[in-house]
Amino acid sequence: MKKRVYNFSAGPAILPEEVLLQAQEDFFSYQGTGMSVMEMSHRGKDYDKIIKTAEADLRSLLNIGDDYAVLFLQGGATLQFSMVPLNLMPPANKADYIVTGAWSKKAVKEAKRVGTVNVAGTTETNNFNQLPLQSDLKLDPQAAYVHYTSNNTIFGTQWKTEPEVGNVPLICDASSDFLYKKIDINKYGLIYAGAQKNMGPAGCTLVIIRKELLDRCSDSLHTYLNYKIHFENDSMYNTPSTYIIYIMGLVFKWLLNMGGLDKMYERNLNKANLLYNYIDASNGYYTGTVVNPGDRSLMNVTFRLTSEDLEKKFIAEASAAGFSGLKGHRSVGGVRASIYNAFPEKGVADLVQFMQDFKLKN
Ligand SMILES: *Cc1c(COP(=O)(O)O)cnc(C)c1O
Repeated sequence: MKKRVYNFSAGPAILPEEVLLQAQEDFFSYQGTGMSVMEMSHRGKDYDKIIKTAEADLRSLLNIGDDYAVLFLQGGATLQFSMVPLNLMPPANKADYIVTGAWSKKAVKEAKRVGTVNVAGTTETNNFNQLPLQSDLKLDPQAAYVHYTSNNTIFGTQWKTEPEVGNVPLICDASSDFLYKKIDINKYGLIYAGAQKNMGPAGCTLVIIRKELLDRCSDSLHTYLNYKIHFENDSMYNTPSTYIIYIMGLVFKWLLNMGGLDKMYERNLNKANLLYNYIDASNGYYTGTVVNPGDRSLMNVTFRLTSEDLEKKFIAEASAAGFSGLKGHRSVGGVRASIYNAFPEKGVADLVQFMQDFKLKN
């Protein structure tokens, strides 16, 4: 087998090796069909089984009940910044947004085109290096919904429990931590996630919506932008991202075979602790960027060295040693190790060893 690097990319991101190898086996001719999944009609019985199995496996991973619809859409999480307010903001035409980073801000920008946005909490004045406290949220009980970003891919913060929002539907952009642990779907009105961080290749966005909210989707919306249309057509109003959904299905199977999301969470916790514990024990040579340890992301570990020159050297030498994708987002700099579900524990241990060696030599 060709050598692979440790891929710390924030997204598109690492996939499980088992999934890649299975895809390789199926690539030329899928399970005796004589064609690749890429070449199949999305309306044929072979593909029907692929998408139905993917949905069933996802439902079993998260115990998603029949009162929720699962949609496989396109346009990235970015299109959801528009679809959420277009479908769900009327008739109240006002919604609460908790702003914890660049992605939340983009969501706000689109929501403002539809109605009134109440920024119910923000940590922007601290450059998003922490999350707001529950007691600081100024929620409007009449809001159409509350939107938040569960994991802030760029700033390295993550909500460990959902904000408390009473009876107002909770909407979550979970693009960079969906499936990192078991969550209670019943707490959500809608949750969306682009596939390319923790679930598959780029090109599909998963939307899980409480069916009762579909009543809000107005017939006057453009057809493709209406959740109800996608629900009524089983995500096949138009041609879905067939191959991406197939890979997502393999990832869901992999998660089930790994023992489900509780097991995955345990693994994620171990990986993140290994890295954070070393950062904290490095006597200030490496410094985590997030103020409160409780806000630290298990998915994107962000840290700094003592100078930008040293960071440059660190990233270059790490890259040469087979640790790829450690450069922080261009808007914040520093170092970011994205250690999604598929990232192996050994890769984190090896990175810690590399960090120790680098510290000794520099
Ligand atoms: C990456 C990311 C997005 C943007 O996803 P696209 O699929 O590129 O539209 C949105 N929100 C979060 C939290 C992200 O990490």
